[in-house]
Amino acid sequence: MLHTIVRTIRRFYPGVVFAGYLVAFLIAFAMVFMLPIGALGMVFLALMALIPLVFVLGIVRAIERPLALKKLSANRCPACDARAIEPPGADHCDLYRCTNCGSHFSASGEDAEVPDSPDAPEAPDSPEAPDSLSASQ
Ligand SMILES: [Zn+2]
Repeated sequence: MLHTIVRTIRRFYPGVVFAGYLVAFLIAFAMVFMLPIGALGMVFLALMALIPLVFVLGIVRAIERPLALKKLSANRCPACDARAIEPPGADHCDLYRCTNCGSHFSASGEDAEVPDSPDAPEAPDSPEAPDSLSASQ
């Protein structure tokens, strides 16, 4: 439960920060015409705010990692909570894989991208550009 909350915060945090910066930009843009020094102050404030914002993301990740490791050691997926974790080495990569939702996790408990392997079969939903181009002509 706690991990789900922390994971949700970590997933939406960059979007929320970006929305905050977008709102600050709109306020600063309106302020250019009324109080130019205020807009300049907002630029410096926004730049200085980057430091604690990145620091907070590091704290959230540091909280999430041990909680995800606890779930992985209990053979449960940190993303979907299913008991379907495949240990590393099963499909020639060093990542934990959930057979239920397909998520991959590193040994440190973080979400991991799926490594591209040259012998992997092509995804069935991938568009086949040459065939679709020749069919339309
Ligand atoms: Zn899963």
